[in-house]
Amino acid sequence: MNIEVDSISHEPKSEQRVYTPEDFVRDNHSLLADQNRNTFSSLRNNGELFLITRCSDARGNIPELNCIDISNIATDGPQQPYQNLIIGAGVKAIMEMTHFDGEKFRLGQHPTGCGGLEAKQLQLLEAPSEKDMKKFGLPRYVEAIKSPDPVVLAYYNAQSIASHTTKPVMAAIQDHVSGIIYPLATFQNDDGEIISRTKLPTRYMFQDQYDQRVIYKEGIPILSYNNLPEVFKEFLDLNQKQISDLELKYSNLHEILRVQNPHFVIVTTEKMNARARFPEILKEPGSYFQVHIPRDKQEQIISIDPKTIETALEQIQYPIEHFSKVDTILIETSDLAQSKKIGSALIRATWMQNWQKKRQNHQIFTAESRVGKIVRLEEFK
Ligand SMILES: [Zn+2]
Repeated sequence: MNIEVDSISHEPKSEQRVYTPEDFVRDNHSLLADQNRNTFSSLRNNGELFLITRCSDARGNIPELNCIDISNIATDGPQQPYQNLIIGAGVKAIMEMTHFDGEKFRLGQHPTGCGGLEAKQLQLLEAPSEKDMKKFGLPRYVEAIKSPDPVVLAYYNAQSIASHTTKPVMAAIQDHVSGIIYPLATFQNDDGEIISRTKLPTRYMFQDQYDQRVIYKEGIPILSYNNLPEVFKEFLDLNQKQISDLELKYSNLHEILRVQNPHFVIVTTEKMNARARFPEILKEPGSYFQVHIPRDKQEQIISIDPKTIETALEQIQYPIEHFSKVDTILIETSDLAQSKKIGSALIRATWMQNWQKKRQNHQIFTAESRVGKIVRLEEFK
C-alpha cells in the first residue's frame, strides 16, 4: 500500500515540527522511497555504487542514490569495521570527503567551516582537562581526529584506505556552501604498490613539516577534472547535476547551506542515504545531522561492537549542544531491542538530559529497519 506523502502532518509554519512514528513509517514506505530503494539495490547488484565517507554535517550533499553513505563528525571515526564494504562487490570506487566553507577561505590558511575540526583546533590550543577526557562525550572523540586541516585529513584517510583495497580511492573536499566537490588526490593500489596523483605538496602536510602557508599559497591545490579516472569524473558529474537541481528547487540554497541548524539527528546502521529513505520528511537541504554506526556481519549474524556504539554516542553531543532547532532523534538498527539499548545509553548522558529538559517537545524514536525499510518504529520513552 502506498500512501500519498502529502498526508504527512507536519506544520511547516512553526519552528517545532511534529512528526509521529506513523509519519516516518509512511514516508519510508512511500512510492518514492520504494523507487529509491530499487535504484540503490540495482546499482549495488551491478557493482555501481560509490562508498563515501563524509562528515555528519547537515549541509553535506551527496548523490543520494549512488552512494553508500558513511558519516561521522569530521569524516573521522572508525575505518576498520568498513573493511567488508571497501572490498565488497557492490562498490566500484571509494571517496573520503571532508568539507569547508568556500566563502571563508583565505590564501595561506587551511580551509575552515567543519565544526568537528574547529573543536579539534581548539583542543590543540587548550588541552582538555583529564576530567573531561574521562567523561563520555565529544572531547574524547575529538581527541582522536588526526588533523584539524580537512585537506590533510581527507588525504591521510584516503591513502590509508587505498592500502586495503584494489578499488580506486579519491580524497575530496566539498565546499558546503556551493555544494561543489573538489578532487584532491587519487590512489590506486596495484598489487601492493600504491600509485597516487595529487597536486598537494605532501612533504609540507605531515607532522613537523606541516606548513599551511606553503600548501595554500595559491589556493587549494585540486586535481584537474580531465586527468581523473573516468569513475571519478562520473561522480563529480553526479555532484554537479545534483547541485544544479537543488538550485532550481531552492532559490535560497546557498543561504540555507551557509549555517548549520538541523531539526533531526539520525543515528543509523543503514547504508543507504537517509534522505533517500525518508524523501519527504528529510527533503530540505540541511535538515538532518547523521551519525553512522558500523555493524559486523559474520556468518549471517549481525552484531555491533560496543566500542563503535560509544564512538557514535560521543558524537551526538555535538548536534545536541550546538544546534537550537534539533528536536527529533531517530535511532535505527536492524534490531529494535538494539536501537532501544542505544537510546537508553544516550539518555544516561548529562548533556542529553539537559537537552530533554530544555526541549520540552523533543522526540526520540527507535526503529528496526532492514535494507533501508522500516519494520518497526516507535517512540522511545
Ligand atoms: Zn564537519
